[in-house]
Formats: sequence, structure tokens, C-alpha cells
Amino acid sequence: MMPRGRRLDDAWLVEHYARGTIDDTRDAFEAEFGWRPTRQTLYVHANRLGLHKDRECSARRKDAAQRIARWSAMPEESAWMAEHDRGQRTDLLADEFEERFGWRLNRNQVNSWRARTGTQPKGRRLYGGRPRLPVGTERVSKDGYLVVKVADEADMAMSKDNWKLKHVHVWEQANGRPLPKGSCVYFADGDKGNFDPANLVEVPRRLVGVMNGLGVPWHDAESLRAVMAMAEVRVRSHEVLMSAERTCAVCGRRFVPSERQRWTYTKPPKTCPDCLAQGRKAGKGRKYDHDQLRALAASGLTQREVAERVGCCVDVVRRAMREKGEQSCTH
Ligand SMILES: [Zn+2]
Repeated sequence: MMPRGRRLDDAWLVEHYARGTIDDTRDAFEAEFGWRPTRQTLYVHANRLGLHKDRECSARRKDAAQRIARWSAMPEESAWMAEHDRGQRTDLLADEFEERFGWRLNRNQVNSWRARTGTQPKGRRLYGGRPRLPVGTERVSKDGYLVVKVADEADMAMSKDNWKLKHVHVWEQANGRPLPKGSCVYFADGDKGNFDPANLVEVPRRLVGVMNGLGVPWHDAESLRAVMAMAEVRVRSHEVLMSAERTCAVCGRRFVPSERQRWTYTKPPKTCPDCLAQGRKAGKGRKYDHDQLRALAASGLTQREVAERVGCCVDVVRRAMREKGEQSCTH
């Protein structure tokens, strides 16, 4: 706010406002008149007088990008950066860059190049910032797990890989090796606070879905391992079933289900990948007499029994029953 009774000198502003940043103007003003107006006071007053700063001098312009720097589309500039970036201050690097290419990078553009290439200078904080937390600091993550700081700096630039889930960290310390990719660590007794290494069990993620689907609960490391073994058997038998050679129901050739079919089907496929690619699928053109299916179901047989009698799949019977329901609704 402008102190009461004090006026900004219009003539002085007209003469001096355009030059330098807003803070430069405040400095100059203070030197001249002995008091320091706020930035807002200056902006508002200058605006009323129709005064503007020289564009390249305004404080906000200083860090605005001159050009869009899409590094993937600038191989020459990228190569130059790879050669000349030694982790120097961003403005010094920008000076060199400007000398070579005739336009200036701003700080964000330098940082984004460094992040792309994983060349962020490590271990140096030149610009102050928040004091660092010591290694060993713990905090609670969003989903309620303890995480612990395990190193001062992240290995991967811009990541937080120097923080680890505490139970994973304890497991790794106890086992003397990093947790394999594709695995997670379970609290066997379900207590997220029990970091006893005996309570922490490595579980391959590929088993997690099957383990939950088994519907068998566990309550300690031993029972958890038993459930894992059951899931493993289930997964293996599925693999065997899915990799066995079979006869295509459309063309009659022998085929082994494709990788994709093995991953996405719960039951072995009836049609070979070639036929599927041609849009021919077993069972697609086949027609069952829905009235007959409904009649059988009405005679007291279960849907499964009807399916077995006719030689179709239960879904066909269900569809027939649903169809009947819809018809009775519309009539
Ligand atoms: Zn076929």
C-alpha cells in the first residue's frame, strides 16, 4: 500500500518505468524519493498512466521460454547438449547454447533435457531449498504403509527411488538381495506393523490373483506359503491344459493355443488362431432350438442338465431363458 499522503511522481515514472524489472524500479524509486513502494502500487499506478515495461526486461519475461524445445525433434541440439552439459548452472549452459544456436533455453527446458537423459546433477544443492531429511527417516504412505528413506539421492533422476516401503526394505536386508522384479512382500499375519523378518514373505505377483480366488485364508507365514503352493499348482495345471495340442472345431486341424489365447482364456480355446483371424469361431453359426431348451428347463431340469442333454454350453441355455424373459416383458 502506498503510505497515506505520499504520491508517486508521475513524471519520474514516465521517464524511468520502462527500464529494468519491477524490483529495479523500486530500487531506483527508493534511491530517489526515500521510500519503497510495493510492486502492486507501482503496477497499478503505471497501468493508470498507460506505462509498460520493456518486454525483455520484465521479471516474468526473464524466465519465459523463447521457443518450444521439443528435444525429441531436435537431434542436433540434443547432441550438442550431451556434449556440453557438465552439470553447470542452467543459466551458464543457456549462455553457451545461445552462442551456438542463437536462441536461449530457459531453466525448465534445461531441466527437462536433463530429466529425459537422466543427467540431473546429483548430490549438490545450489539453490537452497528445504533441509534434507536424514537417511532412515520414516513416514506413512498414502495407503497406510510405512516408507523409509534409504539413500540421500535417488538413483533415477526425478524419481523417489531413495524411499522404500519399509517391509520391502526389511525383507531385502534380511535376505541380502533386492526384491525380484514382479514380486511383492506380504505381511503374513496381516499386521502392517509387524516387521519381524519371519512375518515378511515374498509373493510373486502372478500368484496374487489366483491366491485370492482360491478363497483360502492365511494367518501366518506357514499358511501363506501353503496357499501360495496351491495357487502355484493351479497356475501350472492351467498352463498344461492350455498348452496341450487340440483339434480346431472349425477347420479340424490340430493346433496349440497361441500365447495370447493362453493368457486371456480361462478355458482352452475351441478354435485355432488362423480361423479366428478369418472371423470364423466355433459355435458362432450353430443354432439351438431355444423353445426346446426352454421346454426342457420348464420340465424341471437344471440349466446344466439341459445343456448336457442338448450338447450345448450352459451359457446358451441361460441366453435362451433370458430371451424368454424379455419376450414376456414386451408382450
Ligand atoms: Zn481352425
